[in-house]
Amino acid sequence: MIHEYACRVCGTDGHSVAVSGIRDWEYGVKGEWAYHRCERCQLLQLHPFPEVEDLVEAYDVDYHGYRTSAEKGRLYRMLFEVKDRLFKKKIAAQVPKGAALLDVGCGSGEYLRRMAFLEPSRIDGIDFNSKAVELARSKGVDCFQGIFPDYPSEGSTYDAIFMNNYLEHTLNPDVEVKKAFRLLKPGGRLIGEVPNFRSVDQRIFGRYWGGNHVPRHTFQFEPKSLRALFHGAGFKDVKTNQELSSNHLTLSVQNWFQRNEPDLANNPSISHGRTWYYNHLLLGMAPINLFFKLAGRSGVMKFFGSKPS
Ligand SMILES: [Zn+2]
Repeated sequence: MIHEYACRVCGTDGHSVAVSGIRDWEYGVKGEWAYHRCERCQLLQLHPFPEVEDLVEAYDVDYHGYRTSAEKGRLYRMLFEVKDRLFKKKIAAQVPKGAALLDVGCGSGEYLRRMAFLEPSRIDGIDFNSKAVELARSKGVDCFQGIFPDYPSEGSTYDAIFMNNYLEHTLNPDVEVKKAFRLLKPGGRLIGEVPNFRSVDQRIFGRYWGGNHVPRHTFQFEPKSLRALFHGAGFKDVKTNQELSSNHLTLSVQNWFQRNEPDLANNPSISHGRTWYYNHLLLGMAPINLFFKLAGRSGVMKFFGSKPS
């Protein structure tokens, strides 16, 4: 862990502490973290900041991101199906048929498989976890094992690049967004999803907020700071949409209930980072999340940016 603070994006050391005393309530990686807000670019950065080997260790758990939705239960899938249909409509309006696609942080490759309706000419993925890469390859994804900054590719290759729940895991989101800009064809889209730090659930739950997910979430974004990051990389028509997703709200409730567990690493109530009641709560929390979304303060936001043509 790196204990000296400086914003990794703009280099400024002036900051304020936004939240402290955060622990890994889900998987029990040992330590305590805070988010520092950069006084210049307003990005929220994890403190202390993990070294690469700390991150490798943090993912070496029974990580939920590497599971397929079939393992997540029936209720989860129902909610997912409804949203999926709406989302595909939106994608179809922005990404042409026969597109070349890249999914950065592709996990099991399931998201790319969902894009089959676009009849893509190329489906490439990147993930640094060997288990994820293996799963993605079994689904026909041409998957590179490593991190995006090391990904060997010519410029202007892709019609769309996806970064779902990815930017908040990186060592420097500015480097990532600029690389995506370079690899997109003119007119290409960068589309993805991040936790929204400016959400009602973050305000209510603070250190127990599900979007914290320390030490894996190295950065946190708000609509304004995210748009500034994209504009800085050259993107235009940058939009952030509040999502109908009760994931972080539900996880906040779970974290709050688990907060006094003495041994979080061997918590008998948790499997794959989730309690038995998580999937049931997801649906119960959805109407509450709908209010937060309508107020412009959901715990999850989607982003869309275009490379000028
Ligand atoms: Zn900064």
